[in-house]
Amino acid sequence: MARLALVTGGQRGIGAAISEALHKAGRSVIASYAGNDAAAAAFTERTGIACIKFDVSDYEACKAAVAKIEAEHGAIEILVNNAGITRDGTMKRMDRTMWDEVIDTNLGSCFNLAKLVWEGMSARKFGRIVNIGSINGQAGQYGQVNYAAAKSGIHGFTKALAQEGARAGITVNAIAPGYVDTEMVRAVPEDVLQKIIARIPVGRLGHAEDIARGVCFLTADEASFITGSTLSINGGQHMY
Ligand code: NDP
Repeated sequence: MARLALVTGGQRGIGAAISEALHKAGRSVIASYAGNDAAAAAFTERTGIACIKFDVSDYEACKAAVAKIEAEHGAIEILVNNAGITRDGTMKRMDRTMWDEVIDTNLGSCFNLAKLVWEGMSARKFGRIVNIGSINGQAGQYGQVNYAAAKSGIHGFTKALAQEGARAGITVNAIAPGYVDTEMVRAVPEDVLQKIIARIPVGRLGHAEDIARGVCFLTADEASFITGSTLSINGGQHMY
C-alpha cells in the first residue's frame, strides 16, 4: 500500500509542488491548509489530492485533524511541515502578536504535528519528517527577527529530533529554501526582486519544484541514512 504523506500548507505555493511531486512518486497525499478554501478546491479538482483545513499553530486542532486523517486514510508515515507565514517589521515596529503568530505557525506547528505522529512512527519503526526552514533562518534577514528565529529554531528542532528518531527508523531533516517564485515573492517590487536575483549565483529565483525534488529525495524509503541534515536549495546564494 502506498505510504501516506501529510503536507501542511500543501495546496498552494511550495507546498502544492511538494504534494504533487509526492503524489507522482506514488505516495498517498493529504494537503492541509489554513483558510483558503478556493485554492484548496481548485487544487483538489486539478490534482485529485484531498485537502483538510486546520490551524497548524493550534495543538488541539492538529490533534483532531491527525485523528481524522488516520481514521479515514491510515497511518501518516511521511510528514512535511511546510506551512508558514511572515509578519515582517523592524524591531521598532514588531509587536508581540507578530512575534507569537510567526513562532507558533512556523515552529510550534513542527512540534504539534511531529508530536502527534511520533508514537505511531516509532511503533511501526518507520517515519520520514521534513521541516521547511529558510535561508533567512540560516543567515538572518533585516526586518524578520520573528521569522528568522522560527526558521532557525526549525533547524535546531530537526537535529535534536533526528537523534531521538534514529534508532526507531524515523529520519528528520530540514530543507532551507532560498528565494522561490511563489505569490509571496512575486509581491516584492520589481526593482527589489532584481537586486535579490543579482545575488543568486545561478541567476534566477527557485521554482517550487526545486524544493519538492528535495522533499522526494529525503522522504524516499532508501534515504534511511540521511537524518539531522539541512539541505540548502538556494541557487548558491548562501553556502555553509
Ligand atoms: P505560501 O504563502 O504560498 O503558502 C503558505 C501555505 O501555508 C498555505 O497553504 C497556507 O494555507 C498555509 N498556512 C499558513 N498558515 C497556516 C496555519 N496557521 N495553519 C495551516 N496552514 C497554514 O508560502 P510559500 O509556498 O511561499 O512557503 C512555503 C514554506 O516555505 C513556508 O514555510 C515558507 O516560510 C518557506 N519558505 C518560502 C520561501 C519563498 O521564497 N517562497 C523561501 C524560504 C522558505 P492557506 O492557503 O489556507 O492560507
